[in-house]
Amino acid sequence: MKVLINGEWRDSLSGKMFVVHNPATGDVVGEAPLCGEDDVRSAVEAAGEAFADWSAKNPRDRGKILFFAAEEVRRRNRELGSLLTAEQGKPIREAVDEINGFANILEYYYALSAGERGEYQNLRGYGHTLVERRPLGICGAIIPWNMPAIIMGWKIGPALVAGNTMVLKPARTAPLTCGKLAEILAGAGLPPGVLNVVTGPGETVGREIARNPAIRKVSFTGEGGTGRQVALDAAPALKRLTLELGGSDPMIVCDDADIRMAVEGVIRGRFYNCGQTCTAVKRLYVYESIADEFTRHLRARVEGLVVGNGMERGVSMGPLNNRPGLERLVSQVDAARERDEGEIITGGRVPEGKNYEHGFFFLPTLITGVPQESVLISEEVFGPVLPIATVADLDEALDRANDSRYGLGASVWTRSADVIVRATRELEAGIVWVNQHLRTPPEVPFGGTKESGIGRENGRRALDEYTEEKTVLIRL
Ligand code: NAD
Repeated sequence: MKVLINGEWRDSLSGKMFVVHNPATGDVVGEAPLCGEDDVRSAVEAAGEAFADWSAKNPRDRGKILFFAAEEVRRRNRELGSLLTAEQGKPIREAVDEINGFANILEYYYALSAGERGEYQNLRGYGHTLVERRPLGICGAIIPWNMPAIIMGWKIGPALVAGNTMVLKPARTAPLTCGKLAEILAGAGLPPGVLNVVTGPGETVGREIARNPAIRKVSFTGEGGTGRQVALDAAPALKRLTLELGGSDPMIVCDDADIRMAVEGVIRGRFYNCGQTCTAVKRLYVYESIADEFTRHLRARVEGLVVGNGMERGVSMGPLNNRPGLERLVSQVDAARERDEGEIITGGRVPEGKNYEHGFFFLPTLITGVPQESVLISEEVFGPVLPIATVADLDEALDRANDSRYGLGASVWTRSADVIVRATRELEAGIVWVNQHLRTPPEVPFGGTKESGIGRENGRRALDEYTEEKTVLIRL
């Protein structure tokens, strides 16, 4: 791919490229320009020049371009999904779902583009007051590799409909799908400079986006440590910030839960995207009275999962996306093993065999009897490893669920109205699910509490995050 700056597809100023590998096979999938700070600056200049005309457009006309792009994305979902699988690793079925999810987000913000914004009040002595919502200007978006299409949609949908222009940086190990999606947006009529895509390292390209004073807001999704660095870099220019960071979502399974449904909830909640989802089920608390039965069913289901290249028929879980991710996961499991923190009842290692030699594979893993102080509970585990602990009752489940610095999502599985009322009130999370986990529809706000982040994406609220109010007082 090339980078998109001012409507043109360019090489980086240095002319250097980096290679993107398939995490299942090690094959080369493509190349992307290795940009530096100067490339970001020229993208910022282009975004600055495009802002006046773009922000002056009728919001519905902005939305229509996203809608046309969404139609084209849906038409090409299989081709785009294959590219996503090749660079990211997820099974093709999940990749096509993600591509369709990107289209859903654009369509949703198209629908909102026609909605009313702003307020009017007659304050008598002060006169007529108008509160208008203005776009912020140039916005920066920095995204991770785990859900590149969805997270790109979460950022560009509201930002562009609200009238901002944008400089977006995909992650190094999954930039190609974002490039294709940007190409489709340009083809749908997005004017030059409205969306610019620059690729390269976080330490240069990402940091310049965070620092550049002409960028008025940065929306970042990634690890907490990186998010803190972005916040520090953005502070001198007092930028608006949205930080969508890590999570360690608890799932509580009560004794009256539908066990079959809860087992399927874990399968999707933990093993979807090879466990590399911010809102994956990362800790399971199951009532003692049903723990044996539940774990038996879950183990049988997990042992039936087929690990392999996501392009192959019948594969239910692909590889991790990158080597550092796999090494971190292995070291977390090894640490738990060395400290005797629970019993690995299935998985716990890299699979053996010719098909797995060149990929970043790890077997789906269940570990029972994990104590609360384990690294598997206190750290984010970004891969297909599930620590399981038993709890006596709801008090203990809620205490342990909330005993975390993270607060992204949480779920409770029960048929009891009393439990639902209490758990939804007391769980410390930005999103609480009942009898489901993981789903994050574009219509409702999404984001974390505690160290899982600042701000919200999705829903109408996201438009507020990409605008600011201007109050006008008129005396006639
Ligand atoms: P990461 O923080 O390593 O990288 C994210 C992006 O930041 C990449 O594009 C990277 O190149 C860039 N970057 C790296 N250093 C930078 C710097 N100093 N300044 C600016 N940009 C920099 O995260 P990752 O490994 O790509 O993603 C996994 C993490 O993302 C997990 O912690 C996961 O929970 C989190 N995540 C959160 C959400 C959410 O919505 N809360 C969604 C998906 C992923």
